[in-house]
Amino acid sequence: MAIYPSLFNDVIGPVMRGPSSSHCAAAVRIGRICRELMDCKIDEVNIKFDPNGSLATTHESQGSDMGFFAGLLGWEAFDERLPRYKSAIAEAGMKINIEITDISASHPNTYEIELRNEKEIRTVTALSTGGGMIEIIKIDGADLLIEGDFFVTLVYTSDNEKAKNLLEWNFDFDELNICSGKENFIEIKAQIFPGETLLKKLKDIDEVNSIKMLSPVLPVLSRKNIEVPFTDCSEMLEYNNDKNLELWELAVQYESARGNISNDEVVGKMKAIVKIMRDSIEHGLKGTEYKDRILGNQSKNLKSRIDSNSLIGGEVINKIILYVTAIMEVKSSMGLIVAAPTAGSCGALPGAILGIADSMKIDEDKIAKAMLASAILGVFISKHSTFAAEVGGCMAECGSGSGMAAAALVYLAGGTLEQSISAASVALQNSFGMTCDPIANRVEAPCLGKNIMAATNALSCANMALANYNHLIPLDEVIDAMAEVAESMPRTLRCTALGGLSMTKSAKEIEEQLRKINC
Ligand code: SF4
Repeated sequence: MAIYPSLFNDVIGPVMRGPSSSHCAAAVRIGRICRELMDCKIDEVNIKFDPNGSLATTHESQGSDMGFFAGLLGWEAFDERLPRYKSAIAEAGMKINIEITDISASHPNTYEIELRNEKEIRTVTALSTGGGMIEIIKIDGADLLIEGDFFVTLVYTSDNEKAKNLLEWNFDFDELNICSGKENFIEIKAQIFPGETLLKKLKDIDEVNSIKMLSPVLPVLSRKNIEVPFTDCSEMLEYNNDKNLELWELAVQYESARGNISNDEVVGKMKAIVKIMRDSIEHGLKGTEYKDRILGNQSKNLKSRIDSNSLIGGEVINKIILYVTAIMEVKSSMGLIVAAPTAGSCGALPGAILGIADSMKIDEDKIAKAMLASAILGVFISKHSTFAAEVGGCMAECGSGSGMAAAALVYLAGGTLEQSISAASVALQNSFGMTCDPIANRVEAPCLGKNIMAATNALSCANMALANYNHLIPLDEVIDAMAEVAESMPRTLRCTALGGLSMTKSAKEIEEQLRKINC
């Protein structure tokens, strides 16, 4: 089945709390699927992380434990209780063991999980692929692919044929797979779960041992035979040849086709997202506090300097810096944010768009359109490169956010579609090779500064494009080159906290101070 990114699954979202979408939100989603696989009854969980991956060194400090255990408890990625996950797991009586051992993982964010209760033992291999997206690649030793975008039913049976026949005649599914591992089962992906009557008939087959129902964890579902109008920039321009649509309208047409939802629904969803981003800024400007945090309240200091007119630069750039800082501080204090495209880079894109929009007195309707314009370019990055810092460093997170924001700023300033694409190309080119080397293994610094750099780079590149600078390399080629650069980046600089700033003496001292505070 062809897989196409969705604006609201892969690019803008999830709405979440926590430092990192590839750690917290993705882990929540994996945990929720594990919970349903065990019929919501889990006594013991054994998790293995590969020493050569990212999770071995970051699973606790960047929120994977918090997210995964919250998911096992049935919580959502935006649940206010997330910081209290340890006591909740203890109250639920779940025994947890985490082991760092060679599992020959080919992806840096691999979870090898064993789940136990009185009745059964099940195994799951899952990946966090960036920006909160996941892949379940094995259940009970059988290869499969669950991405959280279908209602998935697993029918464990010693005779596939009877159950398969029953399903084929009585159920409108999107995909049916026979899976062989420790046990045999049929995997059915559909838009709904089988109804009560069909479930009863399945259970009445002697050879059917059990049935598991795994709910979708993504906001936009997939289906069979999806067709989207384009999958990269050059296809989009060709599609637009005889239409002359604006970038945001192309985004709406893409997502409407991808998600089988109306144009109005796409715009409505984006307006709701912009409202959450706006709320994050207001929350951040009021001041935030959190124990496990490196930086103090930077946005308060900045605001007082802006108000007293004692900073270099004009109103626009300082508003952008202020808004980016406010959002990042909300993220670092477990407040509600939108991963855009990731939680680590949640400040740059909305900070730049809302900062410019407020300076130019632009209404919320046009802001949502600018966000849509940015998101469609994010679809191309997601499809042909990555948002995962564990794969492409900060180039994948803040670099992507910068490219997407540059396109949106051109739109807000009344530029052309071609100028938006040119701005995105240059902003992304400028971001190549950005390392991910978080201080004290938290997603706070240099993340704040890098988000500000991404947002201000977007502003510069938007102005360059508006003045018709030549971007030289088409956006599609830049995105392909970005994937190639990611391949050649050393593991120590891809969110492992094993290189760059992470290994400095001062970073280690800060890490030790935080360890003592958290004891
Ligand atoms: S350095 Fe960049 S990629 Fe790494 S955690 Fe910070 S924001 Fe994310």
